[in-house]
Amino acid sequence: MKTLQMGEREVPVLGQGTWNMGEQASRRQHEVRALQLGLDQGVTLIDTAEMYGEGGAEEVVGEAISGRRDEAFIVSKVYPHNASFEGAQQACERSLRRLKTDCIDLYLLHWQGHHPLAETFDAFETLKQAGKIKAYGVSNFDLENMEEALTYGAPATNQVLYNLSKRGIEFDLLPWARERQIPVMAYSPLETSGREQAVLLNHPGLKAVADAHNVTPAQIALAWVLHQDGVIAIPKAVDPVHLRANRAAADIVLSSDDLAALDRAFPPPRRRRPLDMR
Ligand code: NAP
Repeated sequence: MKTLQMGEREVPVLGQGTWNMGEQASRRQHEVRALQLGLDQGVTLIDTAEMYGEGGAEEVVGEAISGRRDEAFIVSKVYPHNASFEGAQQACERSLRRLKTDCIDLYLLHWQGHHPLAETFDAFETLKQAGKIKAYGVSNFDLENMEEALTYGAPATNQVLYNLSKRGIEFDLLPWARERQIPVMAYSPLETSGREQAVLLNHPGLKAVADAHNVTPAQIALAWVLHQDGVIAIPKAVDPVHLRANRAAADIVLSSDDLAALDRAFPPPRRRRPLDMR
């Protein structure tokens, strides 16, 4: 699988999301097994957050990586309201306990809140010095936020909403990040679920490319995100069929005709737009 340099580690461009995990005891073992199946397939980057299931998703991750911590690259996120100098350090300690590990590979500010960014980054640097995190970054930052962030520190990534239906970052943020070799982590690469996902996956333009490759529309949607330079995609999947399909999508090679057809179906942005968020 294609890899990218993230801080000091090389990571696969396909990872696994965990939003909506850790919310129901009855689903927990399915979720643990799903993350383990992902690890078995080399999908070793796992994205979570203290917000997901109010810590429940981190516990699911902790169980999934038990005995195989070294295989995994763990990304977690601090709530903005916890991102003061002391608060971020305390939140990180709580996440480490739930994840049952002594170090988070990449720790992100989930979105910008009222605590000054300089203070949050000071906390992240302190956590890094103490060996509690290996690298830090941000999420849901637009171009101005990123420019400000670079004056206070060196975020290893910006995790943002990006998929065929939500291409706004291609106008400014993505080229800016590429120039600076800051990988972008694409969340909701399949539009999460519900109506928006149905609109994306039932689009005739996407279906035509999928039919030509004899794969599903979701696989082409994911392969398209993975095709983008400097981008990591973190789909969430609990269904083993979805997990295998997503791993296979990382091997799909899109031709220039496929890419042109997808551009016609989902036109790239022609002007600057506010950052899409979920
Ligand atoms: P997503 O990954 O785009 O979509 C997840 C949904 O798609 C699930 O219902 C899943 O079903 C289904 N799915 C997965 N693979 C599929 C396939 N091959 N075919 C058909 N359906 C498939 O949405 P997301 O969970 O919003 O985003 C991914 C991750 O990004 C999150 O889990 C989270 O870690 C992160 N995230 C970050 C932020 C942020 O603010 N930083 C915001 C949103 C999300 P099953 O689970 O049933 O398999």
